Order: sequence, then structure tokens, then C-alpha cells
Amino acid sequence: MGTICSLTLFEKGTPALYAAAFGRLKELEDILSANREGTDLDKVNKNAGIGPVKVRPELIVCLDRALVYAEKSSGAFDPSVGPLVKLWGIGTDGAHVPKEEEIKKALTLIDYRDIEVNHDAGTVLLKRPGMALDLGAIAKGYAADELDTRLTGKGVDRAIIDLGGNIFAMGEKKAKKGPGDFFRGLNPGGSGKQAKDDGSFWRIGVQDPRENRGNYIGIIALKNKTVVTSGGYERYFMEGGKRYHHILSTENGFPIENGLLSVTIVADKSIDADGLSTSAFCLGWEGGRDIIASVKGAGGIFVFNDLSVRITPGLEKDFTLSSAEYKLAKP
Ligand code: ADP
Ligand code: MG
Repeated sequence: MGTICSLTLFEKGTPALYAAAFGRLKELEDILSANREGTDLDKVNKNAGIGPVKVRPELIVCLDRALVYAEKSSGAFDPSVGPLVKLWGIGTDGAHVPKEEEIKKALTLIDYRDIEVNHDAGTVLLKRPGMALDLGAIAKGYAADELDTRLTGKGVDRAIIDLGGNIFAMGEKKAKKGPGDFFRGLNPGGSGKQAKDDGSFWRIGVQDPRENRGNYIGIIALKNKTVVTSGGYERYFMEGGKRYHHILSTENGFPIENGLLSVTIVADKSIDADGLSTSAFCLGWEGGRDIIASVKGAGGIFVFNDLSVRITPGLEKDFTLSSAEYKLAKP
């Protein structure tokens, strides 16, 4: 999946169960990866403009959800972004700023309405030659949900699934009962809004998007939910002193530049959080906020390059800003 995946089981953590979980991830990669030969997705791409390809049901489930976000975002999020992703090669040794004609050509190949899913036959067709799927913006979310379902089926109540920062916090952290645990608060120096934390909430840090895997700007308290971040800091390359990141505009073909450093989504399903994080990053605050509001149980934390932070209604009670450099702005 092009990232580090880690799994922490707080019960029933047998070698067999860990092996089964990682085996399942490997299987999903064999179906969904756009970066390897022979995956189901690769077969669909190779048959673009030629004919429908029979694929495993996992690809259809994941693609269906991607198409929902393509609709909701009017194509700002588009699973047929493949030609543009390949052109930029971000995250590969060949990353470079493409020529204008190349970008123009890639843009003509991107249109989610030219993806045909036949549910009865279990096939996918890309209608025009040169089209290519890329589910990089949603596949890790889907994989995290898969692990959640499988582990729940095996009787695991508490686990942290972390697929390259795409986090699913299963169940609740065990409440420690003892003096001093009540009203301890999540962040003693913070707002104290979560002063009633009884130790049963997971605390997930939201990374400072200006640093790579370093400090966090604040903490989300949650139970049995998922947290997914999209940001320009995750994958990028430098050319001519400028930074080019991996979330691309389907309008102009360049990395999205809208003042956002990152969007973090909290939701019940990781596939939704992943779809929403990329969609909201592409759309910016207003469009992003609306699309998040359309998904039950979802909320978002938007971090801007002026170091302001905006939170969608309802989520502010679960988030404590801890970095003094960032400021909460009115939503
Ligand atoms: P990450 O992969 O770092 O977790 P995202 O979930 O935001 O981040 O997904 C980014 C990936 O999605 C890119 O690497 C690329 O494969 C794909 N992508 C880039 N731009 C778009 C877009 N506009 N719509 C859909 N997918 C995109
Ligand atoms: Mg995403």
C-alpha cells in the first residue's frame, strides 16, 4: 500500500490473528493497487477502451463508494484521476513537473462518468482508451474497515488499526477506575472541555502538517471511530524551490493550492473518512464542510497555512487544540 501499516490488538493478539490480518491487507493490495502489475485494478486499466473486466467484489465495493464521493464533489474527487497521478509520478523516483500539453491530455481522460460498473456481471469498464483508475484516495480506508469487520468477527473488541496514518480506533479504551482518573481531562493545560473523560476514550493526535511525522497540533478523543488525514505534507517532491504534493486538481491538473495544509476527518467508517478527507482537501472549507455534513456521524478539522484551524459543528467538543502556534477560527 506504499506505506507503513501497524496493528495493535489489545486482546486475542495471537500470531495467527496478526498473520491473518496482514494477509488480508496483502490480498486487498493485490486487488486494488494501481502501482502494481496484475492487480484487478491494473487489468481494468489495461482494458480501458477495449472491454469490461471481471473483478473481485472488493474492487466494486470500493469503486462504488469512490463514485459516491465523485458525485458529491462534482468530480473534484475522481477515481479516474489515474493518468494525472502517473504523469506526475509523485512518490516515485520519476517525480517531475509535467509539460503543459501532457497535463492537458491527462485532464481529458479524467471523468468518473465514463466508468461503467456492471453489478450483475461483476465487471468494470473504462469507456475510453488511456483512462485509468486510481483508488489511492480511498483504498486504505476500505482496508481499515475490512480489518475492523474481520477482527470484530474474531471477538476482538479493542484495537488500533493504523494504515499509514489512516487510523481506526476499535471499541473503547478500558476505563481505569481509581482516584485521580476522574476529571483528569484529556489535556490538563487545555480547554478542559473533556474534563469528564473517564479513561475510556482513545486519544488520537492530529499531526502538525508543517512537520513530517513530528508534533501534533491537538488531540481528538473518540470511541470506536476512525480518523483520517489528507495533507500536502504526506507525499511531495521539490522542483525549482517549489513543493509539489500528491493531491491533484482535476480542474487544472496541478497539486491543489487553496490555503489548506491538511484536513482530518472523524467518522464511523474509514472508507468515508478517507473519501471525505481527500474530497474536502480538494474542495476547501466551504465545499468540504457541506460534503462532510452529508455523511452521518462525520466531522472535519481543517488546518490552513495561516495556522488557523476550523472545525465542523459538533466535532469541537471532541478536539483539544494543544499547539500554541495554531488558533481556532470561527467555523
Ligand atoms: P494519502 O494517500 O496520503 O493517505 P489521500 O487519501 O488524500 O492521501 O489520497 C491521495 C491519493 O489519491 C494520491 O496519492 C492519488 O493516488 C489519489 N488522488 C490524487 N488526487 C486525487 C483526486 N483529485 N481525486 C481522487 N484521488 C486523487
Ligand atoms: Mg483520502
